[in-house]
Amino acid sequence: MNRVDEISRNLEQVKERIASAAKRWNRSIDEITLIVVTKTFPLSDLEILYSLGVREFGENRDQEAAVKVGQLPADINWHFQGGIQSNKLKSITNWASYIHSVDQFKYAKIISENSAGKFKSIFIQVSLDHPPESRGGVDPQKLITLATEIGQLPNISIKGLMAVAPVSGDLPRAFGRLQGIHNDFKATFNAAKSLSAGMSGDYEMALEYGATHLRIGSSILGNRA
Ligand SMILES: *Cc1c(COP(=O)(O)O)cnc(C)c1O
Repeated sequence: MNRVDEISRNLEQVKERIASAAKRWNRSIDEITLIVVTKTFPLSDLEILYSLGVREFGENRDQEAAVKVGQLPADINWHFQGGIQSNKLKSITNWASYIHSVDQFKYAKIISENSAGKFKSIFIQVSLDHPPESRGGVDPQKLITLATEIGQLPNISIKGLMAVAPVSGDLPRAFGRLQGIHNDFKATFNAAKSLSAGMSGDYEMALEYGATHLRIGSSILGNRA
């Protein structure tokens, strides 16, 4: 099978599975965003995805993404969801429409300082790990304090929360906990309606627990080298 057919078939399958999971969990498909995570895949794959109508792309590395952004049409929303390094953040802020992995005030401050005149949407990454913060993400107990500080910065808006499934343990329980954290969070931060959770292995379950942004790579593009 050629690459176009392969990507096209996988994309359709993922979309169908999203649609049926959404139906099963009584979720409106309009509130669900599929981000195709293209990190490590070549520009030619992104061009194929673009030709198939994909406009939400996810990347994890500044240098790799900046090159791709420069080669593709401007009507794409780029999502950064990788680990943040302060010295890369100014550049990331230039190309990313959404930054999913903010977990420290100092990062939010850099984003704010580099977003004058254009609001930058961020997600705050929450840690579901034990111990918390072992792989990035803020300890849920410190979330409200962090968000309150970030909320006072100009040019930045908290679109919601983001999380990665824990390495081990009961996944439904972890996603259930995340949904609870998000519900409590929305009570204070009304505008933070989005929940970025769910990857290739767990996106249907994430939909059961309120995910609005699915970050899916390998189910669509295959295994990364
Ligand atoms: C790579 C990555 C994804 C996509 O993972 P797949 O298993 O390929 O779907 C999603 N979220 C984050 C944070 C990632 O780093």
